[in-house]
Amino acid sequence: MTVYSGPVFDMAVNQFGVIANYLEIPMDERDRLLLPKRAITVSCPIHRDDGSVAVFEGYRVQHHLTLGPTKGGTRFSPSVDIGEVAALAIWMSWKCALVGLPYGGAKGGVNVDLSTISKRELEALSRRYMQEMIPFVGPHTDVMAPDMGTNEQVMAWFMDTYSMYQGQTVTEIVTGKPVASGGTLGRREATGRGVAYLAGRVMRELSIDTNNATAVVQGFGNVGSYAAFGLHQFGLKVIAVSDHTGALHDSAGLDIPALMRHATTHGSIAGFSSQLQFDPAQILTLPCDVLVPAAMERVIDARVAENLKCRILAEGANGPTTPDADLVLDKRRDEVFLIPDILCNSGGVVVSYFEWVQDLQQLFWEEEEVTRREYHILDRAFELMLTRARTDGVSHRTAAMAIGVEKVRAAKNTRGLFP
Ligand code: GLU
Repeated sequence: MTVYSGPVFDMAVNQFGVIANYLEIPMDERDRLLLPKRAITVSCPIHRDDGSVAVFEGYRVQHHLTLGPTKGGTRFSPSVDIGEVAALAIWMSWKCALVGLPYGGAKGGVNVDLSTISKRELEALSRRYMQEMIPFVGPHTDVMAPDMGTNEQVMAWFMDTYSMYQGQTVTEIVTGKPVASGGTLGRREATGRGVAYLAGRVMRELSIDTNNATAVVQGFGNVGSYAAFGLHQFGLKVIAVSDHTGALHDSAGLDIPALMRHATTHGSIAGFSSQLQFDPAQILTLPCDVLVPAAMERVIDARVAENLKCRILAEGANGPTTPDADLVLDKRRDEVFLIPDILCNSGGVVVSYFEWVQDLQQLFWEEEEVTRREYHILDRAFELMLTRARTDGVSHRTAAMAIGVEKVRAAKNTRGLFP
């Protein structure tokens, strides 16, 4: 029995079961690998602008402490609950292990609908959430970062709140901060850039000419917008983009730099063009070379998977594909090249790791160095995944997750079970 439940948690359990069977992990080792080490629930009261008091529920799940501090984002969204956060923490563990970072996975969040709170209330909530987390986090315990609904400004408030309590500036407590307050060059772009880089690599592998290729991107937040921008820079036509307000389609290719400027000013793609409006429900099944789901979990179910018309599925979001859809994609391996989430979006946490290292050393790198090192790590993990998938005849997701799970398992086994 566990306190974790819900469709996203079930997905993480299901995926782990597939990997554990493939790796023939004994039954009595499985719970130790899968179940989170710690889970914290806090209530965060804030003063509303009208003088009333509202209480928001917040969570943080630290999956395992075996390889070093835990690491992962903080999500502000109405979907947040302990099960979702636990699943995302587990995925962070496999992701960090796959790319070789000295971290366990974590994730946190607050159940809040951001459209219902003001900027001042958001600051109060961010600060109170971090204040409630102070006993449980630290630069060598658990290091937060942005995720859905949070950004550099929220990270700056987190860092400031923690630092005020410590009586000194502790930049290394969170990553994804503004460059002006201990952030690193290249972090804002890192996740989307990594998605585009890996998609580019696979296009070479499949001999797809980037100048005649098309891309579709679901989600135009930090990940989707920079992924679209990266693909646009490689010469692809980005023919469709969507976010929570709607979708845009242009078979001649959307003007991505202009759309990014619009989204930065207005907070979404709404109002960019009335002629290019498109049905967001159809975006995932548009014919294209590269499809990037960069919004939320579980958007590709078995039915969508049957109808995908892309050559490359580059998972920018965490958990966009359900286990049922994975079974379909397994059969369509020769048609759709999957770059699984824990590899595809790992550029974000890789550059978070660089930010943490730079903050600890107080020695800052040029953006070119950050990006060069990011790509190097992505290349290494991509090769490992591909070799494993080809040697063992397993899917890319199974290969990538197995490499992550094996690393955590090896570390646990060499350290032994205390006491
Ligand atoms: N939230 C991001 C992810 O899901 C980034 C985590 C981090 O940078 O620590 O990978």
